[in-house]
Amino acid sequence: MNTNQMIEEVEGAYLHTYNRYKIVLEKGEGVTLYDTEGREYLDFGAGIAVMGIGYNNPRYNQALKDQIDKLIHTSNLFYNVPGHNAALKLKEVSGMDRVFFTNSGTEAIEGALKLAKKYANSVGKKDYTIIAMEHSFHGRSLGALSVTGTEHYREPFEPLIPNVKFATFNDLSSVEALMDDNTACVIMESVQGEGGIYPAKKEFIEGVRALCDKHNAFMICDEIQCGMGRTGKMFAFQNYDVKPDIITVAKALGCGVPVGAFLCTQKAATMVPGDHGTTYGGNPFVCSAVDVVLDIYKDEKILEHVCNVSPYLWEKLEELKSKFSFIKDHRGMGLIQGLEFDPSVKSGDVVLAAQKQGLILIGASQNTVRFVPPLVITKSDIDAMFNKLSVALSGI
Ligand SMILES: *Cc1c(COP(=O)(O)O)cnc(C)c1O
Repeated sequence: MNTNQMIEEVEGAYLHTYNRYKIVLEKGEGVTLYDTEGREYLDFGAGIAVMGIGYNNPRYNQALKDQIDKLIHTSNLFYNVPGHNAALKLKEVSGMDRVFFTNSGTEAIEGALKLAKKYANSVGKKDYTIIAMEHSFHGRSLGALSVTGTEHYREPFEPLIPNVKFATFNDLSSVEALMDDNTACVIMESVQGEGGIYPAKKEFIEGVRALCDKHNAFMICDEIQCGMGRTGKMFAFQNYDVKPDIITVAKALGCGVPVGAFLCTQKAATMVPGDHGTTYGGNPFVCSAVDVVLDIYKDEKILEHVCNVSPYLWEKLEELKSKFSFIKDHRGMGLIQGLEFDPSVKSGDVVLAAQKQGLILIGASQNTVRFVPPLVITKSDIDAMFNKLSVALSGI
């Protein structure tokens, strides 16, 4: 079928919630994607920070194929072997005590909020508040939306969860001003992703931990985008001297299969049988992906690799910043970095110009593009990105 015809037909079927690029992707290999017209793209978006180990990894593919031939689904009324392996490995790498597997990031947020709400009720916090951050992103389900700091995402769906207050990310006094003994939890991304790639400052994240301790509130770190090795540690909070009560994980957790998780300490493990559930969540198929992903991270020293290549990405983006005066700021850590442009330059225009050069980038807020490539990129991939983006930016 002709590509344009296919796009037109499917646009007549999908609910129109995305303005998609007119590209039909067909296959991937390593850090390269191919479309139905035979065009090739260097992928610095990784399907929105999902494809940590890149495309078409033979060991990953084989593990999933083997599991498909054995058992795909069981329900959570029974145990399954990949679920055992994935849960134990995830506990080990996170330092958390308990894990619940979900089907997405937004569901992981729902679970995290339920843990905090149940705890707040159990200790008699009345009309408790939840503190979230401006410019945060936590997902699209109603609970996650309630704590997402972008008003135009929330407004059409109000009323949402009551008593959510928004503080300013990296401004500890703004959190302090909102907090008291009736605070149930503070929820924040360790590195803000969609909001424009803002890593938490050390004093901020550690200060939030101290305030949560003071007021017996849970600290929830959303690691959905910045976790799973992207900062060079397995989870971004591990770059700081903090231990959250609850973390949420998804995106690169399954490197392509839909799986998320929320993890918590024993203290935050407030739920009992009947409090929460999922039909698909943590089924043997998706857990076989989590299991092999964590093995690949270990055997192929993915975290070390991120620490080795990411300073080079930093260096090359600094070079672009000094070359193009409309680049205002460069932020991030590890392989989650962003370039912010003058207000006159829209991130969408940069993304399109890069696509014309065969480079996939994604925006993060109006004026920022983010660089969240597969974690297996090499210095020569970074050089190729640099060359393509230089050409693209020269035409802006
Ligand atoms: C993507 C994302 C989510 C939502 O995850 P979904 O799988 O799309 O539901 C939540 N939090 C952060 C930080 C994210 O980047």
